[in-house]
Amino acid sequence: MIHRGSCLCGGVRFEVAGGIGTLTLCHCSQCRKAQGSAFVAAAPVRSADFRLLSGEELLQAYESSPGKQRVFCRRCGSPSPTRGRCSRVLASSSHFTKGR
Ligand SMILES: [Zn+2]
Ligand SMILES: [Zn+2]
Repeated sequence: MIHRGSCLCGGVRFEVAGGIGTLTLCHCSQCRKAQGSAFVAAAPVRSADFRLLSGEELLQAYESSPGKQRVFCRRCGSPSPTRGRCSRVLASSSHFTKGR
């Protein structure tokens, strides 16, 4: 199962060839501000399964707390999947278009 996703402007595209972990909601004040919403919904995927298809040059990272990078598209401002600890990538559920 390949899941594809993109940012709002479509410049950043990626796919995940494998399982998507349990969706986590985080309501902390940083996530709320970063998302402009009441919470962040994100799911971990294995880095090995994650492939950035386009938009590498659009990615901008902001270190919101030590070791925690929040990555977003500099053209449309959408949060992008972020490489986390434990060789995992956090992908926001809002990115995914229909899996194929
Ligand atoms: Zn974008
Ligand atoms: Zn949070």
